[in-house]
Amino acid sequence: VPVAPLLSVEDIHAHYGKSHVLQGISLRVGDGELVTLLGRNGAGKTTTLKSIAGVMQPTQGQVRFGGEATHRLATHQVAQRGICLVPEHRGIFKLLTVEENLMLAQRKKSPWQLQDVYRIFPRLKERRGNGGGQLSGGEQQMLAIGRALMNAPRLLMLDEPVEGLAPVIVEEIVAQLKTIKAAGVSILLVEQNLEVCTQLADRHYIIEQGVVAHEATNAEFLADDAVKDRYLGVG
Ligand code: ATP
Repeated sequence: VPVAPLLSVEDIHAHYGKSHVLQGISLRVGDGELVTLLGRNGAGKTTTLKSIAGVMQPTQGQVRFGGEATHRLATHQVAQRGICLVPEHRGIFKLLTVEENLMLAQRKKSPWQLQDVYRIFPRLKERRGNGGGQLSGGEQQMLAIGRALMNAPRLLMLDEPVEGLAPVIVEEIVAQLKTIKAAGVSILLVEQNLEVCTQLADRHYIIEQGVVAHEATNAEFLADDAVKDRYLGVG
């Protein structure tokens, strides 16, 4: 009997008013897995992350995390269970220092201490006394991920973490995400940069108009130019 996946999303629907944006999304993330959600703008990727995080409630379907139904819980209750969403606009405190930002995010009994975050992100250690607003875009992204780690996630969800960043910073963040994955944190990643996705992922789901149009292991995806062309307009 296979072990139940850490996260299991079963046929969720979501609406913005009358607009039926998610029309039955099902997906899984296993313990220690890194899974991506791919697809064109407006396909429903961000809405899927929000529905898992409890930022919005699905109008139908189930989200199960560690065996427990979480789709009726409030955001902070979902977070307490170990699901952490790093939104696209990053949500750091600009007037607080890097270190204050990290300490504020720390949960009691978190296995992640300041030193652990600084080991992964040496730039944050260098900038520990600087205000969040003084950081570069890449450093702000690192701080947002560092804050999420202080919150002791079992599942880290990232929404376009490298968007708009310079290639050298993108490489740095890819290496850092590999380290975080190796530490046992499961990751659900929304990202447009296919090279980043294929460097990191175990599996991919392609979302199209609010449903999962295709599912593939990373090896299958890499070998399949037709899929890349059809769903993503590349390949
Ligand atoms: P993107 O890369 O553009 O963020 P996405 O795949 O993440 O794309 P979503 O952000 O989930 O897509 O959006 C799915 C659909 O829902 C889109 O048609 C979008 O216009 C619509 N939508 C998103 N947020 C809202 C909102 N707050 N109110 C109304 N409609 C919304």
